[in-house]
Amino acid sequence: MIFPIYLYGTPVLRKKAKDIDKDYENLDEFIKNMWETMYKTDGVGLAAPQVGKAIRLFVLDTEALSEDYPEGAGFKKVFINAHIIEEEGEEWSFNEGCLSVPNIREDVKRKTKLRMQYYDENWVAHDEVFEGIQARVMQHEYDHLEGILFTDRISPIRRKLIKGKLNAIAKGKAKVKYKTIISK
Ligand code: ZN
Repeated sequence: MIFPIYLYGTPVLRKKAKDIDKDYENLDEFIKNMWETMYKTDGVGLAAPQVGKAIRLFVLDTEALSEDYPEGAGFKKVFINAHIIEEEGEEWSFNEGCLSVPNIREDVKRKTKLRMQYYDENWVAHDEVFEGIQARVMQHEYDHLEGILFTDRISPIRRKLIKGKLNAIAKGKAKVKYKTIISK
């Protein structure tokens, strides 16, 4: 099943997402649908709040970025109860986009490296360090769990320049090829 994508302006994108436990209802099915939705919408990552669930889960597959960023090859993962323990390294710019903020791309500065604790889809606990494009996509998806959007991380001047576009998205006026949900 392909989920509709919650767009900029919907309250769920601003919530701090919660951890889940192993009994979370229909988790396998939810993850399967997350994959289906991500691939259908040509995303490299998708976080649960983007489909209306304020839980700490996201999926990503950076294969599509591997031509420019070799470390992206074969990097496909489910993150459950994700928590960043530490971020370090120099900040670098990457032109980000988001299924919840369609037709906008902006350069965002983030640190190179991070350490994250999470569970995979088999409930195996991990504590790992990630770098480069892997860390970048994780940081973007992780922000969704904290109620943060990439447009929060650009300069005030840039934000002012795209304000009209953001308002249009919130009002459902953005042209999007996938099913979406806007705030009522
Ligand atoms: Zn996003």
